[in-house]
Amino acid sequence: MNLKSSWTQIRPVLAVGAVGAVFALRIVRKLKRLLSPSLVLAALSIGLCQASLGQGDADLEAPGLPTFPTTLAGGPVTLFQNVRIFDGASAALSAPSNVLVRGNTIERISVNPITVEANANVHVIAANGRVLMPGLIDAHWHAVMAATPQMLLMTADPSYLQLLAARQAEATLMRGFTTVRDLGGPVFGLKRAIDEGVMIGPRIYPSGAFISQTSGHGDFRFSFELPRTPAGPLSHSEVEGIAAIADSPDEVRLRAREQLRQGASQIKLMAGGGVASPYNPIESTQYTEAEIRAAVEAADNWGTYVTVHAYTPRAIRQAVVAGVKCIEHGHLIDEPTAKLLADKGIWWSLQPFLDDEDASPLVNPVSQKKALQVAAGTDNAYKLAKKYHVKTAFGTDILFDARLTSRQGAILAKLVRWYTPAEALKMATADNGELMALSGFINPYPGKLGVVEEGALADLLLVDGNPLENIKLIEDPDKNFLVIMKDGTIYKNTLPK
Ligand SMILES: [Zn+2]
Repeated sequence: MNLKSSWTQIRPVLAVGAVGAVFALRIVRKLKRLLSPSLVLAALSIGLCQASLGQGDADLEAPGLPTFPTTLAGGPVTLFQNVRIFDGASAALSAPSNVLVRGNTIERISVNPITVEANANVHVIAANGRVLMPGLIDAHWHAVMAATPQMLLMTADPSYLQLLAARQAEATLMRGFTTVRDLGGPVFGLKRAIDEGVMIGPRIYPSGAFISQTSGHGDFRFSFELPRTPAGPLSHSEVEGIAAIADSPDEVRLRAREQLRQGASQIKLMAGGGVASPYNPIESTQYTEAEIRAAVEAADNWGTYVTVHAYTPRAIRQAVVAGVKCIEHGHLIDEPTAKLLADKGIWWSLQPFLDDEDASPLVNPVSQKKALQVAAGTDNAYKLAKKYHVKTAFGTDILFDARLTSRQGAILAKLVRWYTPAEALKMATADNGELMALSGFINPYPGKLGVVEEGALADLLLVDGNPLENIKLIEDPDKNFLVIMKDGTIYKNTLPK
């Protein structure tokens, strides 16, 4: 018997669940003499697992660890008394108010005292007129790559890199960033561990591996790894889930679906030249319209969207024609293309890249030159985003440097070169929250993010001072963020008693 045909016969039986498992056992016994022992074992285990495997791997139980012991929640209900609220949208603070959080949701906001039922285990936070605001959102983050040097990422044990990423995730939350949109890297395990309370960190909207063409911004192969034949081995960054190299619409579709299969909430494609990659000019346009469209269709069928890395007008325009809903970077844009983004309602996820102390460490001179080109476009990009009222998101895209990660809030504060503090904070809260929701029915955290309003998810910061008057307060979260709450759980409370 041909192995392939016996597998084809066994599969439909396996698919019907527990009954299928019994059938599968019988068939497996019959096939035992014909098939290799390892294949029998594989078929057996698939058949037995089928009954419990419904929606995917997440149905398998976590190892039963208690949630992290350092969380400070006093109970399922928290009452913030006497806060002035920056709600994520308005330019002014509210009148002194009280905010009741129940479970993971903001249940009630009132200028009158809120009474809770007797005997309820209520954690009362007497805020004494301090400012309550939504948790910050970084719309362009790389949880695995932000704080780790590039050479280490390319050479170190992957499990070690994940432990570093977990430490960084906790630091990210402690900077007041309660949500990140991860635009490339193997974060599915980290996200799961955080969501289950095994580790501390922000909500993660994962893209999984970023998808790149050969010689594109995500092609980190060494020259000795070329050429690759179609069925050749994957390179290190592909095996690790950092990049997926795909050429042709079919390959792009396959790789996009693989990310969705693992839980990606949006798909990230490299659609033009980049800084950190030495083998593609910054001016290059990457992928063809048909290739980008293949990813867009795969994402759209899953209710979500594609966002692309692109700097130049040509790369941006091709991606827009192909149906992407968000552009990352775009610092070298021209005026007609900015207007096009506004007209089509495309999101522009922009970073305040400047030639200053917060520039990413780049080892090679080619990348250094490209970084300067990009930084030179930043001022123009923000001016055009403002002029045409493009839907603009805030992100940092910090890479390869632990010191830089500590500047996450400081990078946000730089937006006051172009915006008022209220506008800058709105971008990093309510506006970014709207972008997160673009992930549609696969949104991993359904509910409103980035706002303080009744019914929204309870991601909240209590600030010692008024960030609308002094945005520099967010540069020092250790000192100025007295309470950090995510999903209704308090992770930090240094409010003086
Ligand atoms: Zn990035």
